[in-house]
Amino acid sequence: HTSVEGFLADEAATLQLGQQVAACLQAGLQLQLHGDLGAGKTTFTRGLLRGLGHAGRVKSPTYTLVESYPLPAMTVHHFDLYRFSDPREWYDAGFADYLAADTVCIVEWPQKAEGVLPQADLTLELGVAGEGRNYRLAAHSETGSACLSRFQT
Ligand code: ADP
Ligand code: MG
Repeated sequence: HTSVEGFLADEAATLQLGQQVAACLQAGLQLQLHGDLGAGKTTFTRGLLRGLGHAGRVKSPTYTLVESYPLPAMTVHHFDLYRFSDPREWYDAGFADYLAADTVCIVEWPQKAEGVLPQADLTLELGVAGEGRNYRLAAHSETGSACLSRFQT
């Protein structure tokens, strides 16, 4: 399958989705998170990091642009590009080097680096739906498809 979708009734469900995605991740993958402010992108990332064994805090990288987590399985870089005023800042900040065979990159507001950011392996779209959120997780590469084929709800 190339995409999976569903409903997340509450914050716990968003955290759980993050843990489920963590279980099927592989190093070298880039995951882009789409959705408005407050859609749950950082909450999802918090669940994903927990799923990979991170026990500490997960700060939103709103001001720092990136927070990095060296974990046993791989290093995860969590970006929030909301404050970019130009896609070229991706290069100026040296972020191109963060995408590597032994890292996973998770990017909030990837559209702020449109044309500069490589094609995502996976995208997650989150949207407010009543009291909860709808999600759609989609693969855009062989690596992404391999990950999705291991995804279990
Ligand atoms: P973003 O990073 O997309 O701006 P956040 O992850 O900071 O969004 O989440 C914003 C708010 O949405 C948080 O208060 C969080 O608890 C809440 N939230 C996350 N997932 C859900 C959900 N499935 N249903 C209801 N509220 C949620
Ligand atoms: Mg956020």
